[in-house]
Amino acid sequence: MQIDLTDILNHEGRKEEYSVPLELDAVKTGRESFPVLEKAPVNVEVIHTEDQVLEIKAASDVMVAVPCARCLETVKVPFHIQCDLKADMKLSEREREEESEELSCIADKKLDVDWLVHNEILTDWPIQVLCREDCKGICPKCGANRNQTSCGCDTAVPDPRMAAISDIFSKFKEV
Ligand SMILES: [Zn+2]
Ligand SMILES: [Zn+2]
Repeated sequence: MQIDLTDILNHEGRKEEYSVPLELDAVKTGRESFPVLEKAPVNVEVIHTEDQVLEIKAASDVMVAVPCARCLETVKVPFHIQCDLKADMKLSEREREEESEELSCIADKKLDVDWLVHNEILTDWPIQVLCREDCKGICPKCGANRNQTSCGCDTAVPDPRMAAISDIFSKFKEV
């Protein structure tokens, strides 16, 4: 959803508050897409502080489904969005984006709230998502979820010294 900033830009010192529904239904990180499970309306506050400078605050809570990095079970990851931007509307869109990529959510005097929230989620995106700290993952031999069953496969790691030797042999072969 977009908020039209034209009116507030005509009134220095004005402050507006909005509660807008979030339309976002998936978070896209590069090639992957993660479904949004739950979302709260976005509370947005816009203040025209002075001379075409806007202060924009936005807050929302979004729950995204992300597969566990080890066992692929769905994990509900909560994102608590809270951001505070300053946009100098005297600058061009490109100049603003050079200042901060976050400001790419403003174009043609409109604030794209979904875009803003999406970017904030990407900024907070965790490096690794696990269903639990000690997730045992998937058995590399039979594919069983080892949190649920103990399949009994022999997945002992080979002796590192032996691994080093076989590495040398395989390098030798490549030559
Ligand atoms: Zn897991
Ligand atoms: Zn197994």
